[in-house]
Amino acid sequence: MSHYVPLATKYRPQKFSQVVGQDISVRILAQGILKNRLGSAMLFAGTRGVGKTTIARILAKALRCAQRNPEPCGKCDSCLGFLLGNQIDVIEIDAASHTGVDDVREIIESCRYGPTTGQFKIFLIDEVHMLSKSAFNALLKTLEEPPEHAKFLMATTEIHKIPETILSRVLRFDLKRVGQDLIAQYLSSICNQENISVDADAVSFMAKAADGSIRDGLSILDQAINLGDENRINLQDVKDLLGFSEDADLIELLQCILSSNVKAAVSKYREIIKGNNNISGEAIINALLDYIHVLSLGKTGVDHGDNILDESVIHRLSKLESQVSLPALSHLWQMLLKALEELNFCDHPGIVLEMAIIRIAHASRLPSMEAIIGDMQKKCNAEDVPRNVDASGDGGAVSLESSAKQPESANGNSGLGSGELVTEVIDLFPGASLL
Ligand SMILES: [Zn+2]
Repeated sequence: MSHYVPLATKYRPQKFSQVVGQDISVRILAQGILKNRLGSAMLFAGTRGVGKTTIARILAKALRCAQRNPEPCGKCDSCLGFLLGNQIDVIEIDAASHTGVDDVREIIESCRYGPTTGQFKIFLIDEVHMLSKSAFNALLKTLEEPPEHAKFLMATTEIHKIPETILSRVLRFDLKRVGQDLIAQYLSSICNQENISVDADAVSFMAKAADGSIRDGLSILDQAINLGDENRINLQDVKDLLGFSEDADLIELLQCILSSNVKAAVSKYREIIKGNNNISGEAIINALLDYIHVLSLGKTGVDHGDNILDESVIHRLSKLESQVSLPALSHLWQMLLKALEELNFCDHPGIVLEMAIIRIAHASRLPSMEAIIGDMQKKCNAEDVPRNVDASGDGGAVSLESSAKQPESANGNSGLGSGELVTEVIDLFPGASLL
């Protein structure tokens, strides 16, 4: 049995011409090498999986190649060294785990000495935004007056965290999210090479879920191949695969809301948004509404009918049924609809969503309307408060004008209908109206 290699590794581009969706940046780099017009520091910015590190590695290879071509030749000692992972003049640093000034000092120290072979010594700093302020300052001095043999290639997902002083000294490449059609085309070509038969709609679905990231697309394809039968992938396989992971996150968000854990709910929401830039506030609310619908059906024992949710999702939701009452579900439903309305007239959907989640999760902490009504009824009975006094009275009684229309109970108190009591509770407890 051959050793399994993830598709993203197996098909990692080795040449500029193999990079998908970053034509302009790649052209500038290739021409820059040919004309020897590249500076000593370059920064590649963009969301995850768009090719930042890949392009930086190809550039490192091309800069060190014995042939001065726009593309690395793939045959010289240096290029072969890259293939074997044997390149002592290319130093890769993950700034996420090397954030301190001492780590940068090591780079600066090493930078003073020229390469053992070839023209350039290359420092590839990934996630460079993670460097501390003092580390950036130390790096800045070297970037101001770099030795001729040194090239700094940096990559970041968070360009706004890079100090201006650094930005002004680098050649910056903003890598774009790759278009859906291009990703679909790419995934189809990989399926061809892997002898996998794949339906066109399945490819489109995977490309959409990849959300601009080639790497995410390949990772989804990897999983879909495992799920499909006999080297074939159909739309249902892909839906099963993706539906499950997205729903798992959203169900977890609902769980945080139901347990009134405001902090965890907001943090889960942010995680979902971060992991899926394409998911809209509307989609999140609609998913939560779907879940509440399913939970309400479950609570009342009504058949799920032709529910569009996957069986596995319904099964997961059924485990939450015991944690929530039917009135609470109804309140959640109303609050989510209100948030949906608010989304239409606010320019900041992210804020509307966070506020809605805070409000809903917090409201789950408040006593249910049933409990409040129960308390009110107990209180009324205990104090024997006459309920048929005029609303214009001293204001201490709980009656409204409408209560006069109610038939009087045996003990002389009007039997307020539960509808009126609810109205009163809402008036008396503004917080309860949130429910
Ligand atoms: Zn070469």
